Amino acid sequence: MRALRTGSKELIKEINRFKVLNIIRHQQPVSRSEIAKQCDLGVSTLSYIIEELKTQRLIYEVGEATSTGGRKAKLLRFNKDHGYIISVKIEEEQILTALTNMEGEILCKRYALFSKKDSPENVTDMIESEIHQIFTQEKKDLSFLLGIGILSSGLVNRHDGTIIRSSMLGWENVPITRMVKESFPEVQVFVDNNINGYTLAELEKGEGKSSQNFLVVSIGAGVGLSVVIDRKIYYGSVGGAGEFGHTTLVPNGYPCHCGQNGCLEMYASEFYFKNKAEDQVSSYSSSKLTDFHFSEVARAAEEGNEFAMNLMKEMGSYLGYGLRNLINTFNPDKIIIVGEGVKYSHLFNHEVNLIANDNFFEKVDIKTELVFSGLNDDAWFTGGALLAINQIFQEPIYEPIKAGL
Ligand SMILES: [Zn+2]
Repeated sequence: MRALRTGSKELIKEINRFKVLNIIRHQQPVSRSEIAKQCDLGVSTLSYIIEELKTQRLIYEVGEATSTGGRKAKLLRFNKDHGYIISVKIEEEQILTALTNMEGEILCKRYALFSKKDSPENVTDMIESEIHQIFTQEKKDLSFLLGIGILSSGLVNRHDGTIIRSSMLGWENVPITRMVKESFPEVQVFVDNNINGYTLAELEKGEGKSSQNFLVVSIGAGVGLSVVIDRKIYYGSVGGAGEFGHTTLVPNGYPCHCGQNGCLEMYASEFYFKNKAEDQVSSYSSSKLTDFHFSEVARAAEEGNEFAMNLMKEMGSYLGYGLRNLINTFNPDKIIIVGEGVKYSHLFNHEVNLIANDNFFEKVDIKTELVFSGLNDDAWFTGGALLAINQIFQEPIYEPIKAGL
């Protein structure tokens, strides 16, 4: 559990400053009177804070509020060009890097490949080189880089900036923020896992904007989950909340790469296609299906291959049972489905809805919305940037997360 900072006059001033700044960031353009109402601050204190933020180029005044007579009020906006953020996504064999402004809007992006043989040190060197190349290419001043947000697969301890274990990368106990910070000592560096990053983008720019309590479920090569309670991601004890893919769906079912049997991930993701084919060799061999990637099974199903069509529908049913369990456990406002599988949802959507909607709450006419994400793949970059931005502008009530120190 994170320690609360002890109070002092300076701390209270700092908290108020961040409160004002965050109201402007999230509600801009906003008037001084609206800020005063929400912060419960006196006129002189608020004026002092606003002048200070203006001097630091964090905010600026713009236009005028609709007047009902009398003096027209100026509105305040956050200066999104105050600095830059780098967002990095470490994938199985490539690094995706984007430069964003202070609102997570993407200014440019790059891709670089690495091989499975590369060590975490090699990959960190590549991240450093990618960042330098972006700043050179975009003719930007590196001294304006304020934060780096890194998204990775696996179990991540965001407090000490370590990738505890990623089976996809074959990494264990990699202190990634500390390693990256060695090359950028003045910059704050943060890490989280992929799906939590995507969820930050949903919270600010997607389906999550209007929701207090929701779940994000990713489907594709595996199954991921991010839990949002009162608009905050729930992390669990060491940051591992959301290993929903490894909950048991079928006792003694297909063996899973995690060491258990019958995990949801073996049924409600791409893994299911191969598992089922190995189970039903005769119908599989007559199906002429040879590739079990989501895209290939989906293509075959679209072309009318019956075996592939059934695989999609059965996978959808299992996913439906998984979502029903989530609805009954969390009673969320909505579940947002994201990931590669969304592209092919027309092939299994019916089964998912049929089963997931037949849940405990439905019996008393309480509906849980199931939606597919409207964001595109850039949401990973936005999420990685927001990971850094949100920490940089967090109200300082807690002892800070060690930003790769
Ligand atoms: Zn498992």
